[in-house]
Amino acid sequence: MSVTWVLRPEPGPEVEAVVRPVRVGELPADLPAAFLAGTGFSGEVGEVLQLPGTPVTVLLGVGPRARTDRDAIRAAAAGLARAVSAYRRLAVHPPGPDLRPLVEGYLLGGYRFTRYRSGPAEPSDQLVEVLAPGTPEAARGLFEGRRLGEAVLLARDLVNEPGEALTPPAFADRAAEVAEAAGLECEVWDGPRIADERLGGLLGVSRGSLVPPRLVKLGYRPDGWTERPGAGGRTGRIALVGKGVTYDAGGLSLKPNAQLAGMKADMAGAAAVLGAMSVLGALDCPVAVDAWLPLTENMPNADPIRVGDVLVMRNGTTVEICHADAEGRLIMADALVLAGETGPQAIIDIATLTDAAAIALGRRVAALMGTDDTLVERLRAAGARAGEPLWPLPLPDAYRPQLRSRVADLVNYTLGTRHGTALLAGHFLREFVPPDIPWAHLDIQGTALSDGTDAEWVAGATGFGVRTLAELLTGHPHPPS
Ligand code: MN
Ligand code: MN
Repeated sequence: MSVTWVLRPEPGPEVEAVVRPVRVGELPADLPAAFLAGTGFSGEVGEVLQLPGTPVTVLLGVGPRARTDRDAIRAAAAGLARAVSAYRRLAVHPPGPDLRPLVEGYLLGGYRFTRYRSGPAEPSDQLVEVLAPGTPEAARGLFEGRRLGEAVLLARDLVNEPGEALTPPAFADRAAEVAEAAGLECEVWDGPRIADERLGGLLGVSRGSLVPPRLVKLGYRPDGWTERPGAGGRTGRIALVGKGVTYDAGGLSLKPNAQLAGMKADMAGAAAVLGAMSVLGALDCPVAVDAWLPLTENMPNADPIRVGDVLVMRNGTTVEICHADAEGRLIMADALVLAGETGPQAIIDIATLTDAAAIALGRRVAALMGTDDTLVERLRAAGARAGEPLWPLPLPDAYRPQLRSRVADLVNYTLGTRHGTALLAGHFLREFVPPDIPWAHLDIQGTALSDGTDAEWVAGATGFGVRTLAELLTGHPHPPS
């Protein structure tokens, strides 16, 4: 469904429903209290009560006044979107002056992935009149909420696509289209170029697949930007890296069937980075940002890496493969080396990397690690503002020896332990980041997919990470550190 948003001082004549926000303890005085009590409607976040009439009156719970924050408005708007999808034209009294979370929550909550459904097409457009004065602030709120919401939906669409449809070349094509539309620089490396560039991790993982790998490099430059040396002689840029395994069968370490379900989502980190990059211009991001998306399948089909093989990564580090299903860190390592070579102010990576992160923090909180406390805290705070909770995990020096190999510089996986494996993966990535560049790592294994639908989360892909990255890059003091 596509939604058109307009600002109006009062509802237009053809509106089918008018939405009124209601706070807990402040039920509308113009409706009989006894009637409302009988409906069970109390104004809790996301409650919806439709009252017949022309137009229909829709009461939308937004929670207690003291807690009507951005999270509450997003969640309420998401519930609203699902409740009123049958209307083609509605008017909404906004619950507060900031329209961005209203629009964002509505788009996220109303999202459905219907591309592969047969049968009658869903109603295709909706016009939403937001009943607010046409101030520049209101117009900006609508615009930003819409663009941010659309960026998250872009990531969700990519993650929800079947692996057969969204191969590495297909993802790269899509990224190039998005870059064109968003005014981003875009470069795509094919298999031979990836070999020339000595990306041994990406090349190694892709060997098991009949579909070739890609590496996508994106660049965002603010208007009027010129390269200036930043702190420590580095550039003023921020670098992003997103894991793009378009299907992870585990390679030769083939996953059991129960774990294969959902493995089309193993490119959610790359999708989040592409989504965030797509909206930086619209949100007037003041810093230059580069992004690297290593894209491959991890399959046992063609000439897969053997367990016991040694790969040589772009920076010359050798890695003994102890588990072919620990492939994400191999492709991320090469991309982190590429990012580090440009000397950015900070490197942030995002990946569906370890089940351990999901086991530790569940479906709604992503794991955050890094080498720079300031950057880690800024990311955590950006996630909190954006509605994407992140929680820091340590990278204890004491665990570093578990990456030692008998035959190479590192192992990609520590055999014989299930303990602390999110941290071991983080440690592995850290090996490929120059020690003087602040670095943070987001493990979104738990949060990339949602089991069910509540608030702005809809069953399936979440687009987790788009909002955090956009908030960090556009919202607050720059550059980090
Ligand atoms: Mn894997
Ligand atoms: Mn994977």
